[in-house]
Amino acid sequence: MKLENIYKIEGKITILTGLHIGAGNDTMEIGGMDQPIIKHPLTDAPYIPGSSIKGKMRSLLETRYFIDRSVTRNDYLSKGKPCNCGETDCLACTIFGNMAKNSATGPTRIVVRDANLTSEFQNMFNSGKLPMEVKHENTIDRVKGTAMYPRPLERVPAGVQFDFNISLKQYEGDADNLKGYVLKGLKMIELDALGGNSSRGCGQVRFDNLKVDGESVELQDINL
Ligand SMILES: [Zn+2]
Repeated sequence: MKLENIYKIEGKITILTGLHIGAGNDTMEIGGMDQPIIKHPLTDAPYIPGSSIKGKMRSLLETRYFIDRSVTRNDYLSKGKPCNCGETDCLACTIFGNMAKNSATGPTRIVVRDANLTSEFQNMFNSGKLPMEVKHENTIDRVKGTAMYPRPLERVPAGVQFDFNISLKQYEGDADNLKGYVLKGLKMIELDALGGNSSRGCGQVRFDNLKVDGESVELQDINL
């Protein structure tokens, strides 16, 4: 397979509503937050794992674009799993990878790197001026109308920015809309959310200063 091009897609992720990407309970400290966010193990700074961006993009794209396609693909969707058809005309399997036995798609085309704080926000964090938000979530007592079971949820506060960076390989014979498909995925994340608790308002983001190989791209111009 001949590698024809490697696109560089980069920009900033601006957090519009508090972002909660959970760290899992194995990192829980005694007396600490019971729903902590993921943080860099050395610096303790929040970041957005590339896998969170990649996974969200793929699941949104698959639910949007696999409707009415082959039974096999619908079968994967009906079970809630990612597509694993391994067919060369499947953009999801080609771009994001698959484990199909007779896969014909070749190497995974996309690399989504972890998104770290921009230097501005990293400096704020380093000087102790970027506290994480603690949001208390409750269940409303149906009879009394009062809050019960308050649970603290840690979030990256709105306004914070991360640098993000994707590399996308184009091999000879690949469909020419690989890049367009990835941009649709980013637009769908803007319309949906990143991280957990999105139905309760968390994780709205915007991609700013988006560039493909140095050329500006506006997601509002991308049609879904
Ligand atoms: Zn597939």
